[in-house]
Amino acid sequence: MTDAVVVGSGPNGLAAAIRLAQAGIQVTVLEAADRPGGGTRTSELTLPGVLHDDCAAFHPTGVVSPFLAGLGLDRFGLEWDWPEVDLAHPLDDGRAGLLSRDMATTVESLGVDGPRWSRSLGAQARNFDKLVGEVFRPIVHVPRHPVALGRFGVQALLPATWSARRWDDEPAKALFTGVSAHAFGRLDLPLTSSIGLMLTAAGHAAGWPVARGGTGSISTALVGLLESLGGTVRTGVEVTSYDQVRELVGRTPESILLDTSPTAAVQILGDRLSPRVRRQLGRYRYGPAIHKVDLAIEGDIPWTNPGTRRAGTVHVGGSSADIVAAEAATSRGEMPDRPFLLVGQQYLADPSRSAGGINPIWAYAHVPHGYTGDATDALLAQIERFAPGFRERIVATVVRGTQAMEAYNANYVGGDINVGANSARQVVMRPRIALDPYRLGDGLYLCSAATPPGPGVHGMCGFHAAESALKRL
Ligand SMILES: Cc1cc2nc3c(=O)[nH]c(=O)nc-3n(C[C@H](O)[C@H](O)[C@H](O)COP(=O)(O)OP(=O)(O)OC[C@H]3O[C@@H](n4cnc5c(N)ncnc54)[C@H](O)[C@@H]3O)c2cc1C
Repeated sequence: MTDAVVVGSGPNGLAAAIRLAQAGIQVTVLEAADRPGGGTRTSELTLPGVLHDDCAAFHPTGVVSPFLAGLGLDRFGLEWDWPEVDLAHPLDDGRAGLLSRDMATTVESLGVDGPRWSRSLGAQARNFDKLVGEVFRPIVHVPRHPVALGRFGVQALLPATWSARRWDDEPAKALFTGVSAHAFGRLDLPLTSSIGLMLTAAGHAAGWPVARGGTGSISTALVGLLESLGGTVRTGVEVTSYDQVRELVGRTPESILLDTSPTAAVQILGDRLSPRVRRQLGRYRYGPAIHKVDLAIEGDIPWTNPGTRRAGTVHVGGSSADIVAAEAATSRGEMPDRPFLLVGQQYLADPSRSAGGINPIWAYAHVPHGYTGDATDALLAQIERFAPGFRERIVATVVRGTQAMEAYNANYVGGDINVGANSARQVVMRPRIALDPYRLGDGLYLCSAATPPGPGVHGMCGFHAAESALKRL
């Protein structure tokens, strides 16, 4: 029987393994950690019974992913829960921009800019079913929906700072800038609107849901499906060389797919890669990082803005200009006094994560690549700025800086959870300039978030890498 080995069991590794197993390939997944899932794991990090997402928390890309959506993962226990408001962006004056599947909620929160927001981003959301097949793949392709892609592309090319000028007032400017800041880095560069546009359109089209019981339910469902197709996952196995893979599975697999960073791929595959591919991967660049803080709190965060108290995700960073400045600082390697944060209140959509009135709060700050300082105080001060009295509700705290993030998952090089800078070159062509960005050599593939369409829990990097392997098997 034809066989393949996948190194790494993040959502892309598992998606690749499932696609191969669907085609009748015998697949073994080798995972360094003691639990599968990579960025899709959930743990009782602070107190017994209080469930925290170790990494990914909100799933606009998961719920719309063309591959994941077709797998019937509900049969393996995956359920989505939506918060009342998908995303809030509070401001110092007590107002907030609110992103919601219900466009009326968003329009009302954006005041004078509401109608223009609805016209421009509502149109992208209405076209989202066409757009989704175009954006969840390498950028260079023959489009099936050229009109929808063209409309998206024209806006996506702009720097986020230019797109934000479309609006007159701060709630809309800050809301769009905050979503664009998921790109991590300078927001005045071309293409930085692309992530803002995609996540905003996904938010209006499908929301930013959470997985019931924690993001770990996604990997549990993917592993369940893989095993039902005859695949296996072996945990606690860190792969360091090609020969080790052969020894571990007792044969030379026809294909090896790496759900790893490009740096690890070079280390593992060594001179099995051509000098050209090694050189290209050696030029791959990593970006700014995160400092993560998980908290257990009594009751809720006392946000000044009432809409923010109902939101699953909260972007904390103040005005559009504040966020642009904070992101510019982290990309220069400087730690800003007031960093940009993502705060998660998943329990509002999924109360099963709380215990005895204690709720889990998930938060991270954007920090410079490899930052060695402790950004915890800066992070807590930013939340307190929009929710006075918040610190008094904290009963337990777990902190993971950039090095701890990399120790947790080797793909987060220097704490970069995107596994690569979102520079214009790496947005258009990652991990290297090639017609098939997944293929590294004969029977060798990269399937991680370092390949198109990039980071997020959607499994599409794994799906496309598996398709590339299947063409040759
Ligand atoms: C704090 C945080 C918050 C996030 N929030 C969100 C969010 O809300 N929504 C969203 O969509 N995305 C989010 N993401 C991003 C998302 O988790 C990733 O983009 C996604 O998990 C990438 O999937 P992957 O399969 O490429 O890699 P990963 O999920 O990183 O998995 C890679 C796996 O490979 C294993 N591995 C690496 N090297 C080796 C080796 N040599 N041998 C064996 N195993 C190896 C690792 O242990 C890991 O299990 C977040 C990430 C982090 C860290």
